Amino acid sequence: MHTPIYLDYHATTPVDPRVLDAMLPYFGPQFGNAASGTHSFGWQAEGAVELARRRVAALMGASAGEIVFTSGATESDNLAVKGVVGAACEAGHGAPHFITMASEHKAVLDSAHTLEKAGCRVTVLRPRADGLIDLDQLREAIAADTVLVSVMYANNEIGTIQPVREIGAICREKNVRFHCDAVQAFGKVPVNVEADGIDLMSVSAHKMYGPKGVGALYVRRKNPRVAVAAQMDGGGHESGMRSGTLNVPGIVGLGVACEVAAREMAEDHARVSGLRDRLKARLEAELDGVRVHGTMEHRLAGNLNCSFADVEGDALLVGLPELAVSAGSACNSHGGGGSHVLRAIGVEGEWLHSSVRFGLGRFTTGEEVDYAAGRVVEVVRQLRAARPV
Ligand SMILES: *Cc1c(COP(=O)(O)O)cnc(C)c1O
Repeated sequence: MHTPIYLDYHATTPVDPRVLDAMLPYFGPQFGNAASGTHSFGWQAEGAVELARRRVAALMGASAGEIVFTSGATESDNLAVKGVVGAACEAGHGAPHFITMASEHKAVLDSAHTLEKAGCRVTVLRPRADGLIDLDQLREAIAADTVLVSVMYANNEIGTIQPVREIGAICREKNVRFHCDAVQAFGKVPVNVEADGIDLMSVSAHKMYGPKGVGALYVRRKNPRVAVAAQMDGGGHESGMRSGTLNVPGIVGLGVACEVAAREMAEDHARVSGLRDRLKARLEAELDGVRVHGTMEHRLAGNLNCSFADVEGDALLVGLPELAVSAGSACNSHGGGGSHVLRAIGVEGEWLHSSVRFGLGRFTTGEEVDYAAGRVVEVVRQLRAARPV
């Protein structure tokens, strides 16, 4: 067993060796530009991109023509939120209304802020204490001028899986488009844009054992066809929705990551949730004052987010150099004020600043989990013993 032990799978995942192998030729002899239509270098690259497009589409029940490749989910979220609201503006809807949640990723929340500054009305719903959306609140928030609802599939900090199908049904009933940031769920739990009633969906390769810097946005083409205003001007790639030369090796990697997930998702899920439950059981058995954030019922298999009474999260992390875990999310690890997600679900005071997020995944072993649990127990006890009375 090597330390540090990586338990931060929500921040990023290791690249699966099968993904890496598939990508390598596209950094070497198969370097063609997928948009070069006049020679075999271009055709090969294009063929590889189209195969990847079919694989990404297959894992979400979409058709290949509905996949727009991007530089990652931050771009996908921006394109979905600003693109749909922007297209509504262009279609003469004035200043449309947008609805999202306080526990969303910053890529969605900051896009909402930009829309607000541009004169749009934005409603930010607060999740319930268990992290789930209040569906009645959503229903009430949808107004005649609402054009888009954006709610994530699974939360990157507390792992809460939202009732996406119900959200999709409400949006469908009210004739409002539904964007879902599915970065943490895609490839981990079954996602289907038809059954779930999703109109736009963001995914990212590096959260599902693919490379960093590549992702996709699903954009529904029929029933109804969704209009998205491009956010980047250029060569008109990706049906005009996202100009820019395609990242061929990255896209190939995303495609293989989807293909592997399709085959191994169920097995991974069972194994990883078993390990997570073992970690939780041991922490709770050996320590008092453990508070798990979010619900255990609708939760990602690899997620455990908890606070330890009378222990500062930062001090705990400093005491655990052999574990790669995070306090809150990677995006929040630069700022003070505590996690916006924990605040949104009403976590306060010392609980807010003592949270640790454990993220387990495909390559986590039982031995690693047992070692990690033992070290956390030790360090929490030490810190509590050293506290001034
Ligand atoms: C990581 C993450 C993103 C951002 O994805 P990038 O590809 O890193 O830009 C967006 N949403 C969620 C839920 C995430 O976990």
